[in-house]
Amino acid sequence: MRIATLTNIAYIATVCLTLSSGVSLFVASNAEQAERAAVQQSRDFDALTEELEKEAFSLSNLARQAVVKEDEEVSQAWKAKLAQDRIMEAHLAALRDNGASQSELHILQTALMALDKLEEEQRTAVTAFETGKRDDGVRLLFSREYEANLAQVENAFTQFRSLLDQRTDTAIAEATQLSQRLRTLSEIMVGLTALLFLFVLGFIIRHRILRPVITLSDVVNRLATQDYAVQTPAISHVDEIGDMAQAISIFRENGLARQRLEQERDADWETRKLLARMTRRLQGCDSYSDIILATTVFAPHIIPNAGGQLYILDDHIDMMRCVAHWLLPEGGESSFAPEHCWALKRGHLHSPLRDAVDMPCAHVPAELSARAICVPLIAQNKIIGLLSFTNHTPESEPPYIYIELMAETLALALANQKLRESLTRKATFDALTGMRNRTDLDDTLHAAIEQAKASQSVLSCMMLDIDHFKKLNDTWGHEAGDKVLTEIAAIIAGCLKNSGTAFRYGGEEFLIILPDMNEAQTRALAEAILENVASHPMRYDAQLIGPVSVSIGLAVWPHHARSDNLVRAADLALYHAKENGRGQIRVARDAVVQDTAP
Ligand code: GH3
Ligand code: MG
Ligand code: MG
Repeated sequence: MRIATLTNIAYIATVCLTLSSGVSLFVASNAEQAERAAVQQSRDFDALTEELEKEAFSLSNLARQAVVKEDEEVSQAWKAKLAQDRIMEAHLAALRDNGASQSELHILQTALMALDKLEEEQRTAVTAFETGKRDDGVRLLFSREYEANLAQVENAFTQFRSLLDQRTDTAIAEATQLSQRLRTLSEIMVGLTALLFLFVLGFIIRHRILRPVITLSDVVNRLATQDYAVQTPAISHVDEIGDMAQAISIFRENGLARQRLEQERDADWETRKLLARMTRRLQGCDSYSDIILATTVFAPHIIPNAGGQLYILDDHIDMMRCVAHWLLPEGGESSFAPEHCWALKRGHLHSPLRDAVDMPCAHVPAELSARAICVPLIAQNKIIGLLSFTNHTPESEPPYIYIELMAETLALALANQKLRESLTRKATFDALTGMRNRTDLDDTLHAAIEQAKASQSVLSCMMLDIDHFKKLNDTWGHEAGDKVLTEIAAIIAGCLKNSGTAFRYGGEEFLIILPDMNEAQTRALAEAILENVASHPMRYDAQLIGPVSVSIGLAVWPHHARSDNLVRAADLALYHAKENGRGQIRVARDAVVQDTAP
């Protein structure tokens, strides 16, 4: 039940009880007045009957004196008093109208009739006296009958007063009882009113003050411990408690806003730390696969709730090749032409999501293009890759600044890797022939021998030198010589396939390491190279230059040399091939190099 309804009911009940109490008091007061009126009436009738009784005796005495003394004056006095008594009798006759009972009226009637009879006898006696029959008058007034009538008048009035007193006592008792009851009723109603008032007061204090105060106190305690999840009670009273509830609600709103800001700041700080860590990890990467791994590890956390793809520009085919993707369904790897991306065309971050109307990128599926964010990876003003995100939560603003920072650090890492690979290639490979140079020959040879030892197999080494190359240079020029070098390197690679590793050992000398190839297999390979060179028509400026031949020396570990002089053994074998007329193959055994190394 609503408090307002309760208080209204209580108010009405209080008013009713108060009115009832007032009516009771009023009725009780009336009863007291009736009691007082009854008493007064009783007194009046008592006095009147006593007076009449006295007058009856007095009148009787006057009549007797008038008759006995024969005094005319007394006779006149008797007549005057008789007239007065008539008035009193008339007054008494009206007693019926004042609530007298039948028995009272009957007795009164008897008394009055006896009085009338007395008066009649007095009148007869006085008339007899006046007409000279005094003795008759005396006899009549002093007769036994007259005395009996006089006694009857006295008795009747006495009995009447007795009945009147009884009735008055009863009326007083009833009026007193009624008054007492009404007063008690009035007191009960006042008590009930007080109880109702106290109940309503208690109810209101409990519901409007105590309960809200306890609830608000609990809310304040939880807010003090920064528990802003607590719900503030909806108190809309226009009073101090309502004001307090509103103030607490505002305090909670402010706390929530502050907490939200702190969470955003913490998240921001966390993202910055992640970006810094990603940058440091990228600086430690020494391969593309490391860079790609670092991207797939960090990017989903730096740009959460968004799928992403990393593309690297393949210079040879001028295509953006997808090398990694995260938080996207499988099958996201694809390639596309750079002109299909507006970020690559403009050289800036492109996000149709950010602006109301913008061009979608063609490389993004149509259903995602409106929510795609592309940022080019640029190093030294050249595009080297692309980061592409598909924002899955369009209601939140994507962290563009972090996307751009990540793109910058990623572009730097990719550019460094590209530079490192270029330098490594230049340091390891011969620019003219594309063959490995001697930079990592020792390491490769050492690894091959260890491998052969471990697998208890053999390792062959072949040394190849172009015959009379100086003369060819002199005859046809250095460019023609370079072309011959390139073509012989291609012939070697063609014959070798994947069975060994070839190095450009010197100017026109090549070294080939052949793991797990015995002497016969090596010789067969050497003969194939020899024949392919001899049969290859060397041309320069459409002119045949040649014939060109090569000499080959070969050695097999462990049969022809120790592990540390295998190259030298092959070199000695080559020397003998040269010595014996060039354009031929010599084996280290033939050259007897095992124990005769100079
Ligand atoms: P042999 O049959 O005894 O090996 O005689 P050769 O002339 O081939 O040997 P030699 O050692 O006398 O001369 C090697 C020449 O190779 C000298 C040098 O000019 C030439 N040469 C070395 N490197 C290059 C190069 O990169 N390009 C060109 N065109 N010539 C080179
Ligand atoms: Mg040479
Ligand atoms: Mg030579």
